[in-house]
Amino acid sequence: MPCKTLLASGIAAKFTEELRSLIAARADGPPTLVGFLANEDPFAAKYAEWTGKTCEETGIKFELRRVDRESLEEAIVDANGDVRVNGIIVYYPVFGDRQDQYLQNVVSPTKDVEGLCHQYCYNMYHNVRFLDEEKQRKCIIPCTPLAIVKVLEHIGVYNSILPYGDRLHGKTVAVINRSEVVGRPLAALLANDGAKVYSVDVNGVQVFSRGPGIALARHKVAEVSEKAEEVLPLCDVVITGVPVESYKVDTSTLKDGVVAVNFSSYRNFPDSIKQKASLYVPSVGKVTVAMLQRNLLRLAEYQHM
Ligand code: NAD
Repeated sequence: MPCKTLLASGIAAKFTEELRSLIAARADGPPTLVGFLANEDPFAAKYAEWTGKTCEETGIKFELRRVDRESLEEAIVDANGDVRVNGIIVYYPVFGDRQDQYLQNVVSPTKDVEGLCHQYCYNMYHNVRFLDEEKQRKCIIPCTPLAIVKVLEHIGVYNSILPYGDRLHGKTVAVINRSEVVGRPLAALLANDGAKVYSVDVNGVQVFSRGPGIALARHKVAEVSEKAEEVLPLCDVVITGVPVESYKVDTSTLKDGVVAVNFSSYRNFPDSIKQKASLYVPSVGKVTVAMLQRNLLRLAEYQHM
């Protein structure tokens, strides 16, 4: 079969290697990441365990703090003020409502390795790439959307001959998921990089793009009346994140040679994807954890600056 399947572990390996040598070379010793686990969610516990293991591989000090959710805010405030802590990650959902959004903004932007605070989200949607006028400090991007960007760079969907910021010009992408944590930021990032993105969710389809000739400085969003099955045949890349086991993309609707990427914990593509896709990435979790560490290192550098 001509389809090439790429595992996240292989894609993450070069980042892990790079992180390991950067961490070993740090004059201040390894950076410290503190994780807060304040729920009984098995996926969150798994993610926390996994963060610990990967941090061990790269030399990052990882400290998991189990707290009850009523004490979480104070625990975050303490970690914000503790100079020994370089980065903070909270395993969500905690309350599962707006209070989680509030907590995302309690984490200091200087320690927000997940890039979930308002300042980083605003900059991402507005295509503001640097935190300072001198362009010394790049903005922090949320880990899973960033991991998917890195996967697309790795497999050559980004055209490195084009200028930085325009490297998806001419590409049409579908993102099946429009959650605030992954699908919507991902559609915005890809559109800001020049792609035409069909953002698909249970309620319909939106288009994120910088318009004809990518003339706009940042993406705009438009509602469209087409259904998912009408837009999928137009797409060079289809990225899925539907959190339901029964959901499967109808591969007969996809373009021959499509690039297929799944970030859901369930397999959203049936086995027949291998007869349709040129490249298939069945999961991205390991790249996400590498991005978390990359963000930590970046923040540790900024704290030094
Ligand atoms: P969510 O429930 O917040 O969002 C799900 C999205 O899928 C929504 O936009 C919804 O409208 C859409 N959707 C649901 N059914 C659909 C359908 N039939 N057709 C089209 N769209 C549909 O979930 P989430 O937090 O975005 O997580 C999604 C999945 O991604 C989960 O499986 C989660 O575990 C996984 N995830 C993976 C990573 C990673 O790094 N690998 C990170 C975060 C989340």
